[in-house]
Amino acid sequence: MKRGLIKTENEINTIAEGGKLLRDILAQTAALVKPGISTAYLNDFAEKKIYEIGGRPSFKNYGPKKNPFPAGLCTSVNDVVVHGIPNEETILKVGDIVGLDIGMEYKELYTDHAITVAVGEVTPQAKKLMEVTQKCLNLAIKEAAPGKKTGDIGYIIQKTAEDAGFSVIRDLVGHGVGYDVHEEPAVPCYGKKNTGDVLKPGMVIAIEPMLTSGEYFLTSDPDGWTLRTADGSLAAHFEHTVAITDKGSRILT
Ligand code: MN
Repeated sequence: MKRGLIKTENEINTIAEGGKLLRDILAQTAALVKPGISTAYLNDFAEKKIYEIGGRPSFKNYGPKKNPFPAGLCTSVNDVVVHGIPNEETILKVGDIVGLDIGMEYKELYTDHAITVAVGEVTPQAKKLMEVTQKCLNLAIKEAAPGKKTGDIGYIIQKTAEDAGFSVIRDLVGHGVGYDVHEEPAVPCYGKKNTGDVLKPGMVIAIEPMLTSGEYFLTSDPDGWTLRTADGSLAAHFEHTVAITDKGSRILT
């Protein structure tokens, strides 16, 4: 039977336990980022750490049977918005920005978390893009509360991004999470106030602003996963798993 979207307090505490472990693993992975290393190296480290703590990398083998995602960590460099596949050939260099997106199943519950990291010194524009994307996430989390709607979250992300001269991705959205990798409701990075699904205590959602320095149109690589900006502009992505509480929200990752 399909479970509802409302998690029990016990379940949320378990998601928080996994979320803290995942946050630490992603922070340790990000600390390895430097010029000269491959994206495969980052993935190997992150996957190993997840298995060590008794988790399972939930992105690995996710997707269509014919072409499942082959890794536990998405590594999205520069114009890659999300779902970049880690590999030995992609070597990070000074000035790159790399999105690190990771999901974990832990005690049968799921968390999702992403950050974007600079490789050495980056351009002021890249730095601003990362800062504004993180600001969008922080403001969206503050907005998340019972009685608010998904459109309120989308609105604050879109307004913050566009006021800074950036675009928000339309084709990908945040989502419910917990019993599965992706659940309802959809949590878009754009929208109008007081529209969309109502947030209720016990809901767990992944809020994930994806911003670009140019237009928001995407193009897919032949690998069937890698999504890039069509105009080659830079992209940044930050994500937290968040529980709606009685009064507001609680960050679980
Ligand atoms: Mn997600």
